Amino acid sequence: METRAEFVDRKECIACRGSELRTLSEGSLGADPVRSILLGEAWGENPVPFVEHGSWRYVECAACQQRFHARILAPEWMDRLYGEWESQEAMEAFLADRATPAWKQAHAEVAVGHVLRLLKMTQTLRGGEALRLLDFGCGWAEFVAQAVAFGADARGVDFAPDRQAYAKVPIYGALDEWDAAQDGGQRLHAATVFQVLEHLVDPRAVLEQLAERMMPGAILIAEVPDTSGVRDIQTREDFFAIAPLGHINGFTPASLRSIADRAGFATVTPAATWVTTQWTKVAKVIGRRALAPLLRPTTNQYFVRRA
Ligand SMILES: [Zn+2]
Repeated sequence: METRAEFVDRKECIACRGSELRTLSEGSLGADPVRSILLGEAWGENPVPFVEHGSWRYVECAACQQRFHARILAPEWMDRLYGEWESQEAMEAFLADRATPAWKQAHAEVAVGHVLRLLKMTQTLRGGEALRLLDFGCGWAEFVAQAVAFGADARGVDFAPDRQAYAKVPIYGALDEWDAAQDGGQRLHAATVFQVLEHLVDPRAVLEQLAERMMPGAILIAEVPDTSGVRDIQTREDFFAIAPLGHINGFTPASLRSIADRAGFATVTPAATWVTTQWTKVAKVIGRRALAPLLRPTTNQYFVRRA
């Protein structure tokens, strides 16, 4: 394997495919603050020696204002990022500081809330069938396992080798592997992409591929980091929002809606569910729903696949 990573330039907008891109910021991967932040992160194999000769360039599309990193790792190096660099060991070290029992409980409650809403919102569409759900970029398949526990026919796809090796339930390494395992070609009632679109070289193509596999009226949940206001990497917060190796696409509530719309999805208000017996939490859900038209949209959105 070469010791210097190769990079490629994305020359078209990831959302509208326009080619007029304005540079918002750029820099060297070997210069601070990027270099020190990279050195301080949890990695399997540390990427700094491989990438420090490289540079990054964050751009905005002149036509649709979608923001993204134009310069990204070449495909074989992207594989190395999600293989050797972001290894199981690295992910465990990353989670060790964060995953307290309270965090895990909150995380599980959020997941159960999504499953209950999907069951409710696809009830008519399913006509008594189990919820056919695909979680794309499923990681360790915790959400898939959660959905299965609620009776769903849920599957996961993740191309990271260690995520496949350590997943809670067996998962597929790519969408075409999932395709090959389907007999009857029944389409999905729901698909989910949690913290995935920001990592993809061509997020619109992936959304389109999911749309093709979903029934009209099926539900998509998409969750990405909100990078509103971030146009340069000067602080740690900026770095984590638009990390030049992994977080290569920067979304806002508006650009998330826009790319989903281009792939065939309309926004939809999620159904109300309660994963709690605490009346204060129930009151909060009711209140938030009543205020929904006044609240700012987020980068955690529900969509419906258009007919
Ligand atoms: Zn564009």
